[in-house]
Amino acid sequence: MRTEINTNIDVINNRINSACAASNRNIHDITLVAVSKRKNNELIEFALDCGVKNFGENYAQEMKEKSETINSDKIVWHFIGPIQTNKIKIIAQHAHWVHTLDREKVIKKLNSECESIDKIMNAFIQVNISNEDTKNGCDPEDLIEIGKLVESMRNINLKGLMALPRLNSDLVERKRAMSLVKELSLKLQSINNDANAISLGTTSDFEEAIAHGSTMLRIGESIFGKRL
Ligand SMILES: *Cc1c(COP(=O)(O)O)cnc(C)c1O
Repeated sequence: MRTEINTNIDVINNRINSACAASNRNIHDITLVAVSKRKNNELIEFALDCGVKNFGENYAQEMKEKSETINSDKIVWHFIGPIQTNKIKIIAQHAHWVHTLDREKVIKKLNSECESIDKIMNAFIQVNISNEDTKNGCDPEDLIEIGKLVESMRNINLKGLMALPRLNSDLVERKRAMSLVKELSLKLQSINNDANAISLGTTSDFEEAIAHGSTMLRIGESIFGKRL
Protein backbone atom coordinates (compact mmCIF):
# COMPACT_ATOMS: atom_id res chain seq x y z
CA MET A 1 0.00 0.00 0.00
CA ARG A 2 2.83 2.41 0.76
CA THR A 3 3.98 2.39 -2.86
CA GLU A 4 0.44 2.72 -4.19
CA ILE A 5 -0.30 5.73 -2.02
CA ASN A 6 3.01 7.29 -3.01
CA THR A 7 2.20 6.81 -6.70
CA ASN A 8 -1.37 8.07 -6.25
CA ILE A 9 -0.14 11.25 -4.58
CA ASP A 10 2.40 11.86 -7.36
CA VAL A 11 -0.34 11.43 -9.96
CA ILE A 12 -2.68 13.81 -8.10
CA ASN A 13 0.05 16.41 -7.69
CA ASN A 14 0.82 16.23 -11.41
CA ARG A 15 -2.83 16.61 -12.28
CA ILE A 16 -3.13 19.59 -9.92
CA ASN A 17 -0.08 21.13 -11.61
CA SER A 18 -1.55 20.71 -15.09
CA ALA A 19 -4.94 22.03 -14.04
CA CYS A 20 -3.28 25.10 -12.51
CA ALA A 21 -1.26 25.69 -15.67
CA ALA A 22 -4.39 25.32 -17.81
CA SER A 23 -6.30 27.97 -15.91
CA ASN A 24 -3.45 30.26 -14.97
CA ARG A 25 -3.64 29.48 -11.29
CA ASN A 26 -0.71 29.51 -8.92
CA ILE A 27 -0.02 26.05 -7.50
CA HIS A 28 0.79 27.66 -4.15
CA ASP A 29 -2.81 28.83 -3.85
CA ILE A 30 -4.04 25.24 -3.79
CA THR A 31 -4.08 23.03 -0.69
CA LEU A 32 -4.59 19.30 -0.97
CA VAL A 33 -6.66 17.82 1.84
CA ALA A 34 -6.39 14.02 1.85
CA VAL A 35 -9.77 12.65 2.89
CA SER A 36 -8.97 9.74 5.18
CA LYS A 37 -12.42 8.75 6.46
CA ARG A 38 -12.69 5.01 7.08
CA LYS A 39 -8.98 4.61 6.29
CA ASN A 40 -6.65 3.44 9.04
CA ASN A 41 -3.72 5.16 10.73
CA GLU A 42 -1.13 3.25 8.77
CA LEU A 43 -2.45 4.59 5.46
CA ILE A 44 -2.54 8.11 6.88
CA GLU A 45 1.08 7.74 7.97
CA PHE A 46 2.07 6.63 4.46
CA ALA A 47 0.49 9.77 3.03
CA LEU A 48 2.18 11.85 5.71
CA ASP A 49 5.53 10.39 4.66
CA CYS A 50 4.78 11.58 1.11
CA GLY A 51 4.50 15.15 2.35
CA VAL A 52 0.72 15.42 2.77
CA LYS A 53 -0.07 17.38 5.92
CA ASN A 54 -3.78 18.12 5.66
CA PHE A 55 -6.26 15.34 6.38
CA GLY A 56 -10.05 15.44 6.17
CA GLU A 57 -12.43 13.45 8.36
CA ASN A 58 -16.24 13.19 8.34
CA TYR A 59 -16.93 11.62 11.72
CA ALA A 60 -16.01 13.40 14.96
CA GLN A 61 -15.24 10.27 16.95
CA GLU A 62 -13.06 8.83 14.20
CA MET A 63 -11.11 12.09 13.92
CA LYS A 64 -10.62 12.12 17.70
CA GLU A 65 -9.28 8.57 17.77
CA LYS A 66 -6.91 9.14 14.88
CA SER A 67 -5.62 12.44 16.21
CA GLU A 68 -4.96 10.82 19.58
CA THR A 69 -3.23 7.73 18.23
CA ILE A 70 -1.16 9.00 15.31
CA ASN A 71 2.07 10.18 16.73
CA SER A 72 2.61 13.34 14.71
CA ASP A 73 2.23 17.00 15.43
CA LYS A 74 2.54 17.83 11.74
CA ILE A 75 -1.03 16.89 10.84
CA VAL A 76 -3.64 19.55 10.21
CA TRP A 77 -7.08 18.01 10.76
CA HIS A 78 -10.06 19.20 8.72
CA PHE A 79 -13.57 18.30 9.79
CA ILE A 80 -15.59 18.02 6.57
CA GLY A 81 -18.68 16.04 7.62
CA PRO A 82 -22.16 17.19 8.64
CA ILE A 83 -22.06 18.59 12.19
CA GLN A 84 -24.22 17.06 14.91
CA THR A 85 -24.55 19.44 17.84
CA ASN A 86 -23.62 16.75 20.39
CA LYS A 87 -20.26 16.30 18.63
CA ILE A 88 -19.20 19.94 18.56
CA LYS A 89 -17.07 19.68 21.70
CA ILE A 90 -15.02 16.86 20.14
CA ILE A 91 -14.74 18.76 16.86
CA ALA A 92 -13.57 21.88 18.70
CA GLN A 93 -10.89 19.87 20.48
CA HIS A 94 -9.52 17.93 17.54
CA ALA A 95 -10.04 19.87 14.30
CA HIS A 96 -7.88 22.73 13.08
CA TRP A 97 -10.35 23.56 10.32
CA VAL A 98 -14.12 23.04 10.06
CA HIS A 99 -15.60 23.11 6.55
CA THR A 100 -19.28 22.63 7.27
CA LEU A 101 -20.72 25.52 9.27
CA ASP A 102 -24.25 26.04 8.05
CA ARG A 103 -26.55 27.15 10.86
CA GLU A 104 -26.77 29.46 13.83
CA LYS A 105 -26.90 26.82 16.55
CA VAL A 106 -23.76 25.07 15.31
CA ILE A 107 -21.86 28.32 14.83
CA LYS A 108 -22.63 29.59 18.34
CA LYS A 109 -21.87 26.29 20.01
CA LEU A 110 -18.61 25.84 18.13
CA ASN A 111 -17.59 29.34 19.13
CA SER A 112 -18.31 28.74 22.80
CA GLU A 113 -16.55 25.37 22.84
CA CYS A 114 -13.51 26.97 21.20
CA GLU A 115 -13.63 29.85 23.65
CA SER A 116 -13.57 27.44 26.58
CA ILE A 117 -10.33 25.89 25.37
CA ASP A 118 -8.88 29.18 24.16
CA LYS A 119 -8.68 28.16 20.52
CA ILE A 120 -9.35 30.00 17.27
CA MET A 121 -10.96 27.70 14.69
CA ASN A 122 -10.50 28.20 10.95
CA ALA A 123 -13.83 27.73 9.27
CA PHE A 124 -15.77 27.60 6.04
CA ILE A 125 -19.47 28.18 5.58
CA GLN A 126 -21.00 25.34 3.60
CA VAL A 127 -23.48 26.45 0.96
CA ASN A 128 -26.06 24.16 -0.55
CA ILE A 129 -25.71 24.72 -4.27
CA SER A 130 -27.64 21.76 -5.62
CA ASN A 131 -30.50 21.63 -3.24
CA GLU A 132 -32.57 18.57 -4.12
CA ASP A 133 -30.69 15.81 -2.47
CA THR A 134 -29.05 17.14 0.63
CA LYS A 135 -30.10 19.27 3.52
CA ASN A 136 -26.52 20.10 4.43
CA GLY A 137 -25.26 23.59 3.79
CA CYS A 138 -27.02 26.92 4.08
CA ASP A 139 -29.30 28.32 1.45
CA PRO A 140 -27.32 30.75 -0.76
CA GLU A 141 -29.94 33.37 0.12
CA ASP A 142 -28.86 33.20 3.76
CA LEU A 143 -25.12 33.36 3.12
CA ILE A 144 -24.61 37.00 4.04
CA GLU A 145 -26.60 36.72 7.24
CA ILE A 146 -24.69 33.60 8.28
CA GLY A 147 -21.43 35.18 7.19
CA LYS A 148 -22.07 38.16 9.46
CA LEU A 149 -22.91 35.87 12.34
CA VAL A 150 -19.65 33.93 11.90
CA GLU A 151 -17.75 37.21 11.65
CA SER A 152 -19.13 38.24 15.03
CA MET A 153 -17.74 35.09 16.69
CA ARG A 154 -14.42 35.80 18.41
CA ASN A 155 -13.15 32.23 18.32
CA ILE A 156 -13.97 31.47 14.71
CA ASN A 157 -11.80 32.72 11.87
CA LEU A 158 -13.91 32.81 8.71
CA LYS A 159 -11.84 31.62 5.75
CA GLY A 160 -14.39 31.22 2.97
CA LEU A 161 -16.93 28.90 1.40
CA MET A 162 -17.30 25.16 1.04
CA ALA A 163 -19.55 23.36 -1.42
CA LEU A 164 -20.24 19.82 -2.50
CA PRO A 165 -21.83 19.72 -5.97
CA ARG A 166 -24.22 16.86 -6.57
CA LEU A 167 -22.11 13.82 -7.40
CA ASN A 168 -24.10 12.38 -10.25
CA SER A 169 -24.70 15.67 -12.02
CA ASP A 170 -23.74 16.16 -15.65
CA LEU A 171 -21.06 18.52 -16.89
CA VAL A 172 -23.43 21.43 -17.58
CA GLU A 173 -24.96 21.20 -14.12
CA ARG A 174 -21.54 20.93 -12.45
CA LYS A 175 -20.31 24.02 -14.29
CA ARG A 176 -23.43 25.91 -13.23
CA ALA A 177 -22.96 24.87 -9.61
CA MET A 178 -19.27 25.74 -9.57
CA SER A 179 -19.83 29.13 -11.19
CA LEU A 180 -22.39 29.85 -8.49
CA VAL A 181 -19.80 29.02 -5.81
CA LYS A 182 -17.41 31.54 -7.34
CA GLU A 183 -20.14 34.16 -7.38
CA LEU A 184 -21.11 33.46 -3.77
CA SER A 185 -17.47 33.62 -2.72
CA LEU A 186 -17.23 37.17 -4.08
CA LYS A 187 -20.39 38.02 -2.20
CA LEU A 188 -18.93 36.70 1.03
CA GLN A 189 -15.79 38.75 0.44
CA SER A 190 -17.96 41.87 0.52
CA ILE A 191 -18.25 41.34 4.29
CA ASN A 192 -14.71 40.04 4.80
CA ASN A 193 -11.99 40.52 2.20
CA ASP A 194 -9.92 37.75 3.70
CA ALA A 195 -12.67 35.13 3.55
CA ASN A 196 -11.58 34.30 0.02
CA ALA A 197 -10.81 30.59 0.27
CA ILE A 198 -12.95 28.02 -1.53
CA SER A 199 -13.16 24.39 -0.43
CA LEU A 200 -14.36 22.65 -3.58
CA GLY A 201 -13.43 19.59 -5.62
CA THR A 202 -13.17 15.86 -4.91
CA THR A 203 -11.75 12.89 -6.81
CA SER A 204 -14.37 13.20 -9.52
CA ASP A 205 -14.23 16.93 -10.21
CA PHE A 206 -11.11 18.57 -8.77
CA GLU A 207 -9.70 19.79 -12.08
CA GLU A 208 -12.92 21.62 -12.86
CA ALA A 209 -12.89 22.96 -9.31
CA ILE A 210 -9.43 24.43 -9.87
CA ALA A 211 -10.72 26.09 -13.05
CA HIS A 212 -13.54 27.59 -10.97
CA GLY A 213 -11.32 29.09 -8.27
CA SER A 214 -11.05 26.34 -5.67
CA THR A 215 -8.23 26.79 -3.16
CA MET A 216 -8.76 23.59 -1.18
CA LEU A 217 -9.31 20.18 -2.73
CA ARG A 218 -10.78 17.35 -0.66
CA ILE A 219 -9.56 14.16 -2.26
CA GLY A 220 -10.12 10.68 -0.84
CA GLU A 221 -10.48 7.69 -3.11
CA SER A 222 -7.85 8.60 -5.67
CA ILE A 223 -5.28 8.77 -2.85
CA PHE A 224 -6.34 5.94 -0.54
CA GLY A 225 -8.34 3.72 -2.88
CA LYS A 226 -12.05 2.89 -2.85
CA ARG A 227 -13.94 3.06 0.42
CA LEU A 228 -16.01 0.02 1.27
C1 LIG B 1 -15.80 11.76 1.26
C2 LIG B 1 -15.73 13.19 0.96
C3 LIG B 1 -14.78 13.72 0.06
C4 LIG B 1 -13.82 12.84 -0.72
O1 LIG B 1 -14.45 12.26 -1.81
P1 LIG B 1 -13.61 11.32 -2.83
O2 LIG B 1 -14.58 11.01 -3.89
O3 LIG B 1 -13.17 10.13 -2.06
O4 LIG B 1 -12.46 12.12 -3.33
C5 LIG B 1 -14.74 15.09 -0.12
N1 LIG B 1 -15.59 15.92 0.52
C6 LIG B 1 -16.50 15.46 1.39
C7 LIG B 1 -17.41 16.42 2.07
C8 LIG B 1 -16.62 14.09 1.63
O5 LIG B 1 -17.55 13.65 2.47
